[in-house]
Amino acid sequence: MAKRGGNATCRGFNSRLGFQFGVVIRGAETYKRGRQSPLSMITRIAVTGAKGRMGQAIQQCVKGDARFEMVAAVDRDEPLAPHLQRGVVIVDFSSHLATPAFAEAAVAKGCPMVIGTTGFTYAERGAIAAAAKNIPIVLAPNMSVGVNLLFILTQVAASVLKEHFDVEIIEKHHRMKKDAPSGTAARLAELVAQAKGQHAAKLVRHGRYGDLGARTDAEIGVHSVRGGGYVGDHEVIFASPEEVVGISHHACSREIFAKGALLAAKWVEGMPAGLYDMPDVLGLQVSQPL
Ligand code: NAD
Repeated sequence: MAKRGGNATCRGFNSRLGFQFGVVIRGAETYKRGRQSPLSMITRIAVTGAKGRMGQAIQQCVKGDARFEMVAAVDRDEPLAPHLQRGVVIVDFSSHLATPAFAEAAVAKGCPMVIGTTGFTYAERGAIAAAAKNIPIVLAPNMSVGVNLLFILTQVAASVLKEHFDVEIIEKHHRMKKDAPSGTAARLAELVAQAKGQHAAKLVRHGRYGDLGARTDAEIGVHSVRGGGYVGDHEVIFASPEEVVGISHHACSREIFAKGALLAAKWVEGMPAGLYDMPDVLGLQVSQPL
């Protein structure tokens, strides 16, 4: 492990197999330097989707943390704009249909945003990217530290196990979840496809039914289980005829997403306009193309 100005770089290299990767973990020094507002300042939060499971979890976490103050909690048919002013960070866990309008309101008042909502169409995602030209936005399908590590591990595994391994992704969520597959599963598929030099849209096969013939080498199977009270489980399976590698994450409580979202809210305050992701917040990135 090499250290450079508060950064730690871990490198793996194997010339026989021909893969190379690096993971950069930015140190606390870099984290503070990139910000304009001190970490000790109270962060003012407006939550959208306030009556939902995640909206409630955010409010619970803010209640127990003196570094944050809740200035607004709005749900369907409640206006957000009157609560917005400079210094307020919007934390959105509502619906993909609602988020673009919240982003527009955020731009009008110059408020940074943390978007945890998932299930966006390309057009809705485009609207968020356009808003991010004017304000800083953290958009992440999963705010948990553990899942973001799962993303990194999946990138590494996908680059090492590129050939002769079939990739299947299984996600499990509670019976009320509306969108499928989960945003996290979609991201995992994207990362695997990138390692194959392709786009996920071309490779993903959602579930299987009927006489489809044998699977192709390149396809990525994605399967969504819905039932009971699963908070969110994700597993990526790399299967060859000789061996199987599985990487998984199990969420025990919604608090992990709420705490990650609040960490992102603190981080995004004072950042320049742009579209950021959780690895930016955590300072955890694969440093070069795999
Ligand atoms: P939920 O259905 O329990 O809550 C959604 C809430 O949003 C509801 O109260 C609903 O009334 C409200 N809402 C819908 N339209 C609205 C509008 N126009 N204005 C204001 N409020 C509106 O769902 P949930 O489990 O809390 O999840 C919310 C979103 O967050 C989903 O997209 C989910 O996939 C995502 N999620 C993301 C993470 C993450 O880490 N990024 C974690 C969990 C859930």
